[in-house]
Amino acid sequence: MLRIYDTRARQVEEIERSRALRMYTCGPTVYRSAHVGNLRSYLLSDLIRRVLERQRVRMVVCQNITDVGHVTDDSAADTGEDKVRMQARAEGRSPAELARAYEEEFRRDTLALNLRPPEHTPRASETIEPMVELVAKLIERGHAYTVPDGSVFFDVRTFPTYGEISGNRLEDLQPAHRIEAVDPRKRFHADWALWKPAEGDLSWEAPWGAGFPGWHLECSAMSLRFLGERVDLHTGGIDLRFPHHEDERAQSGAATGHEVVKHWVHGEHLLFDGRKMAKSSGNVVLLSDVTEAGLDPLAVRLAFLEHRYRQQMNLTWDTLRAADRTLRRWRTRVAEWSESPSSPMAAHYVQRVEAAFDDDLDTPSALRLMRELERDPEVAPGAKFESFLHLDQVLALDLSTQIGRAPAALPGGAAELLEQRSRAREARDWAAADRLRDELAELGVRVSDTPDGQSWG
Ligand code: AMP
Ligand code: ZN
Repeated sequence: MLRIYDTRARQVEEIERSRALRMYTCGPTVYRSAHVGNLRSYLLSDLIRRVLERQRVRMVVCQNITDVGHVTDDSAADTGEDKVRMQARAEGRSPAELARAYEEEFRRDTLALNLRPPEHTPRASETIEPMVELVAKLIERGHAYTVPDGSVFFDVRTFPTYGEISGNRLEDLQPAHRIEAVDPRKRFHADWALWKPAEGDLSWEAPWGAGFPGWHLECSAMSLRFLGERVDLHTGGIDLRFPHHEDERAQSGAATGHEVVKHWVHGEHLLFDGRKMAKSSGNVVLLSDVTEAGLDPLAVRLAFLEHRYRQQMNLTWDTLRAADRTLRRWRTRVAEWSESPSSPMAAHYVQRVEAAFDDDLDTPSALRLMRELERDPEVAPGAKFESFLHLDQVLALDLSTQIGRAPAALPGGAAELLEQRSRAREARDWAAADRLRDELAELGVRVSDTPDGQSWG
């Protein structure tokens, strides 16, 4: 069974076997395009799902769409403007139009990365009723209080285990540094707004005053509504540990009287060219940038799989191009192997790869083993075919689809020579491989042999 690092327990824990497991994944705030860093966080949830499904578990996944309530400063300062509204103004579109457009783009990106669609993708703006109910329950239970302007705050001191995910214990939390940021409406500086007074179209009726929900509250409410009071796994990027997940845990725990989420799992951040991926620094790469560069979107998936989800990873155009080449080579190999006599899977490899998946999603080891299998002269091509296709259920690299490099990019005849050379290398016919390299060179095609196989430029 899958073992995975539980942020709250601070250790790798085994996921308890059950026929159905529920997972909540904090979804996107749809005010801009998701960058590949965001997509890495969603891949984590897809991998967990695929590994568990291989073990005959039925997964029920909820991934919210935040189209209201996420403000520019989501710390306990509770200041800032609604991100969707702010961007809509900047783009001269209505908030709903903007949110739907980015939601649709997000859906396309996730499909291009073969991320299985979640069972539930509630939009925050369409799930207000359970949010109001949750706030009412928290007030009733003495965990939240209303103030004259119609806001409702969570009274964090009523939830003594606050901080277990991130390690930020209440007594150590410092009030905001700037004195003007200490909100006089709050009983305690670390309390946060569950509900805020109406601003323009951000207005829904509630017993304590018209207004709109806070982002942290939304996830608790949607999770309780769509998955119920017991959630097996909750995932998100590492930055969501605090305050977002702490606040979610406190709200759901205070409302139900018990721990709702069994395992909190966080994905580490992605850097690009050694720098944090952030719009403010102009260092943002979108999936559309990758495809416009002529690379397969699944090269991004493969590049991510080369690192374990909880390692920080640095992506570069070179690593993306290398992943793209590996992808094409594997698809070509799978197509070649499919022509061979059928043969059962190479069980000793497949078992080790699956053990690596189970070992806290050790995808780098899994890929290393697959490269070994690819080259192992003792394994019949038919067995390689069966093994690769089987493992592709988790890797989801579309290894049985052969999409060759645009032939126009190669001079006439070069593709055939490249293929012959690839076969010669596989047959360890080094003399033939060298001769074909020379022939290709005469056509202006430079072939190099990398640890990943033959590549050309
Ligand atoms: P946001 O749309 O900003 O709420 O972020 C969506 C998801 O992407 C969250 O789970 C974040 O933790 C995650 N995330 C943001 N930046 C990165 C990054 N550079 N690398 C990996 N995940 C990220
Ligand atoms: Zn969330």
